[in-house]
Amino acid sequence: MNLHEYQGKELLNSFGVRIQRGIVADNHKKAVEAAKQLATETGTGWWVVKAQIHAGGRGKGGGVKLAKSLEEVASISESIIGMMLKTPQTPPQGKKVHQVLIAEDVYYPGDNEPEEYYMSVLLNRGTGRNMIMYSTEGGMDIEAVAEKTPHLIFTEDIDPLLGIQAFQARKIAFNLGLSGNALKEMIKFVTSLYTAFVNSDASLFEINPVLKTSDDKILAVDSKVVIDDNALYRHKNLAALRDLREENDIEVEAHAAGLNYVDLDGNVGCMVNGAGLAMSTMDLIKQSGGEPANFLDVGGTADAKRVETAFRIILKDDNVKAILVNIFGGIVRCDRVAQGVIDAYKNMGDAIKVPIIVRLQGTNAVEAKQLIDESGLDVISATEFQEAADKVQQVLAN
Ligand code: GDP
Ligand code: MN
Repeated sequence: MNLHEYQGKELLNSFGVRIQRGIVADNHKKAVEAAKQLATETGTGWWVVKAQIHAGGRGKGGGVKLAKSLEEVASISESIIGMMLKTPQTPPQGKKVHQVLIAEDVYYPGDNEPEEYYMSVLLNRGTGRNMIMYSTEGGMDIEAVAEKTPHLIFTEDIDPLLGIQAFQARKIAFNLGLSGNALKEMIKFVTSLYTAFVNSDASLFEINPVLKTSDDKILAVDSKVVIDDNALYRHKNLAALRDLREENDIEVEAHAAGLNYVDLDGNVGCMVNGAGLAMSTMDLIKQSGGEPANFLDVGGTADAKRVETAFRIILKDDNVKAILVNIFGGIVRCDRVAQGVIDAYKNMGDAIKVPIIVRLQGTNAVEAKQLIDESGLDVISATEFQEAADKVQQVLAN
């Protein structure tokens, strides 16, 4: 589950990580109130207005703007709230902005220039340990840094039993070129950041930029926080932060129905049992020249009710021009699935407007094929995997 920037920062701050402070607002009047309150609390005279959507690259897309007066806070907030913000990480049409974070300006002038670093905490799948990834090249696209100047990205693996050690935090601060007070601040920053990561069962923290202010404070200007869904049951306070407006409607509905569904961009709807078979089905569709519209694992009980729910969910996507049902009957018998498909089809009447190709293999596959073939419905049966994919291409070509 993804958190908004402001939620992530509050989480970090509750573990002692210094942050750029801010107050969230969902209209421009509240934005001005927030700005006034921040001015009282922090002494700031300039503010940044930051669109809160679940996507990065907001700055480039015009979703992060500096305001030098309360009038500018109002006008900038008014223009950002309600806009469809397009960034390299949003869908092509953008994402609607429902709220802005009014944050203190932390790039104020002083003895030194402010400096931006990159820092993330994530699982190193190679070593099976959490690692801290960091770089002096903050503020920009870390993928570009990784491509052009990979030697500027450092990693530090953390022993799961020992946690982050003092020498590791110091090494990170040194590698970032820090000294004096900034070095001390960075040690505290990294240590509390790692503690926050472990204690919130996060799967990703990405802080870009981490800022060294002109007076040598170290703080998080941005936050991308992803919490492991499987751990949410023991973090009720974090689970409550879920913002369904940010999520794909069809995925939310599928999840509520207990289906494992991921929306994709193609035109071939897939209904499959088992994640592995679902992946190979998507591969085969692509190899045959098609594009999967979704990943959908209906799980072990592909009965009529479930098959119908799955059809309804797949058909909510207007891009779907054909549906491929690919079920392997191991524990679940193919003839039962076939009956499920037939019943669901009959129940749904005119709701099904696209051709359906069904491939059932395994227990009672012969009986299943016979059921489908004799049903008189507009359902095309196939026995082999490749044959099914070819039939999908044929119906799409017509
Ligand atoms: P992102 O574009 O979605 O990654 O959003 P960020 O929170 O990282 O903000 C984008 C950029 O806005 C940062 O890299 C900074 O350059 C700039 N920015 C953020 N906070 C401030 C601030 O307090 N003052 C100024 N002048 N710029 C800021
Ligand atoms: Mn950022």
